[in-house]
Amino acid sequence: MKYETVIGLEIHAEMLTHSKVFCGCTAEFGGEENTRVCPRCSGLPGTLPVLNQGAVRLAVKAGLALGCEIHPYSAFDRKNYFYPDLPKAYQITQFAHPICTDGAVDIGEKTVRINRIHIEEDAGKLVHDDYENVSLADYNRCGVPLIEIVTEPDLRSAEEARALVEEIALRLKYAGVCDARMEQGSLRCDVNISIRQPGETKFGTRTEIKNLNSLKSIVRAIEYEYTRQADLLDAGRPVIQQTLHFNENHGTTKPLRSKEEAHDYRYFPEPDIPPILLSDADLAAIRDDMPEMPADRLRRYTADYGLPEADARQLVADKALSDFYDAVIAVYPAYKPVASLILVELLRRLNDAGSTVGELRFAPADLAALVRLSETGEISKNAAKEILRTLFEAGGHPDEIAEANGYLMNNDTAAVEAAAAEILAANPKAVAEYRGGSQKVFGFLMGQMCKKLGKSANPQIIRQCLAEALERPEA
Ligand code: ADP
Ligand code: MG
Ligand code: ZN
Repeated sequence: MKYETVIGLEIHAEMLTHSKVFCGCTAEFGGEENTRVCPRCSGLPGTLPVLNQGAVRLAVKAGLALGCEIHPYSAFDRKNYFYPDLPKAYQITQFAHPICTDGAVDIGEKTVRINRIHIEEDAGKLVHDDYENVSLADYNRCGVPLIEIVTEPDLRSAEEARALVEEIALRLKYAGVCDARMEQGSLRCDVNISIRQPGETKFGTRTEIKNLNSLKSIVRAIEYEYTRQADLLDAGRPVIQQTLHFNENHGTTKPLRSKEEAHDYRYFPEPDIPPILLSDADLAAIRDDMPEMPADRLRRYTADYGLPEADARQLVADKALSDFYDAVIAVYPAYKPVASLILVELLRRLNDAGSTVGELRFAPADLAALVRLSETGEISKNAAKEILRTLFEAGGHPDEIAEANGYLMNNDTAAVEAAAAEILAANPKAVAEYRGGSQKVFGFLMGQMCKKLGKSANPQIIRQCLAEALERPEA
């Protein structure tokens, strides 16, 4: 690349509180339009906001998850602007005194600094109906609690930006702060981007691409904007500082507003909400209540359970899958066999079916029972795969499925020994060849044994009995 790309992100995450941030309306996603509103969140005069303490706790957890300093004093401000999705004509946010600052998140070898995290309220949603040629306002989302996470301009490529959003989303999910469903808008990202000559220390003029709602859009928007800015600089023209909208269909950016017409938000301290004061005891209590974070889980899987690093990473990267793994090993702690069954067989089936762990027809205890059958040698590895298929397609209990399908292996060596004797007697030529030093015929004799004994015999026992019979001096 000719120029160096410089990127800083502003990430909005909806917090998982039951009710909204300043009123008692439900904060859940969806609902029939304008049914989840009250005088407070629709901004009627004379109403007063009451701060949801659960939102404060979650914001602190977000700060802890992203390595931030948490401030014992923080306060709200009014950000004034008029827009149809904002019936109060101002947004309550934190400007001068955010709750968290100075965090750091590692992506691979690189550390990305977090400038601040502040609490604010979400706005409503406008639905543009091109057919009827009208725009409709849905205020259900007004007052849903958000955090805004602002990074320093430490990112240098679209891939780094993508990795950071993924890492932050994962940590917020683990901390229980946000479900990070970008497709539902519970995590959205503004990308600030500028370019400069390699070796240049001053930043170039940046543009800000608003409201990207998928990892793919983030990458595409950055790649497009790099090319657009590079073409300008190549032609000796300046980049204009402006806010852009990314058009998903065309893959291009379009100006929303430029700096000259930028809003003056006339921030001032919010008079209706007292500052947030957090004592050491409050902070300690929230810290104690922090769930296990991805890095800790990774350490548990590798150091305590001995899982290969790549497998551990793959599990941890999918919280639902990883939670499922934990639930299985809580019943039957065969760490590696459970991990491999989940990562190979189960994941392949989930991917093929396009479904998620949450939609499985069986419980973690069923998978535990299946691995137990396999580990104790009661069923073969192939039978284990077959039973998993049945569980996946129809549900059920592994012990019953094994019983009903004749998968339970006959671990009675006497029968296998008898069969070995018969097979050897029936194949004197092969036996002589083996004893004469040809290992090749072993496979043929194994085949004969398996045919005779059927799928209910344990292949390991067959192999052992056959080998012993062949090694035994001729009677
Ligand atoms: P504003 O308050 O106008 O949005 P900030 O200084 O808070 O501006 O920056 C917002 C975001 O823009 C941050 O994520 C920051 O890292 C990023 N940023 C600032 N300057 C640049 C730049 N020159 N190039 C790319 N990103 C930048
Ligand atoms: Mg900004
Ligand atoms: Zn309300």
